[in-house]
Amino acid sequence: MGPFVNITRRTKIVVLTGAGISAESGVPTFRDKGGIWEKYDLMSVATPQAFEGDPQLVWRFYNERRKQGKSVQPNPAHYALARFERLLPEVDFALITQNVDHLHREAGSKNVYHMHGELSKTRCTRCERVEERLDELPDLPRCSCGGLLRPHIVWFGEIPFGTDKLYQMVEECDLFLVVGTSGLVHPAAGFVIHGKRHGAVTVGVNLTPPENRLYLDYFYEGKAGEILPKLVNHWVSCLDS
Ligand SMILES: [Zn+2]
Repeated sequence: MGPFVNITRRTKIVVLTGAGISAESGVPTFRDKGGIWEKYDLMSVATPQAFEGDPQLVWRFYNERRKQGKSVQPNPAHYALARFERLLPEVDFALITQNVDHLHREAGSKNVYHMHGELSKTRCTRCERVEERLDELPDLPRCSCGGLLRPHIVWFGEIPFGTDKLYQMVEECDLFLVVGTSGLVHPAAGFVIHGKRHGAVTVGVNLTPPENRLYLDYFYEGKAGEILPKLVNHWVSCLDS
């Protein structure tokens, strides 16, 4: 598998996870054969224009994903990241995810930034209130203020949440670990380059070499569920010794 990079108690770590880590739990990705994305045209369900034109269709799609999301469980990769955060509370550790599922939180991760939103949350189109809604929702759910609710998800053409802060975190970290991303979706893909430019050691874990492989100091090819537990064991042992 190759050597692992060492850490100290002063190492600031930022992790970025993408669809690949959830795919190992059975969450369908955009490109999966037979996935829900095949039944729907992306542009007709995941854009502000789509919601404007047919909110019912958009909600039907998201309600299906919400339902499907309830049946998936975190995998060893999610648990490894949560374990790292729990065992080494003195290490500066933040987890940014492009995923909209609940798997990191369910595994026990605390310092999680959902840059593309969360399936379990709604946002009012009138009063902007964001709410966690774990119950089953109708096809046109409404806020207590009467406004139409929308999924608290970043759609195509919208700006990811907290981008300025995320760039700053990446800029200040010493070690940037990217897991399960194709290196194609911006701005997340640019984080690796940004981190590298500001002196971070960059580490990637993915089933196949990502597009931004050139910017990774270390790259481990394979399942995150197999590699991350070993990586985290190594880091925990760095601080034990
Ligand atoms: Zn409202």
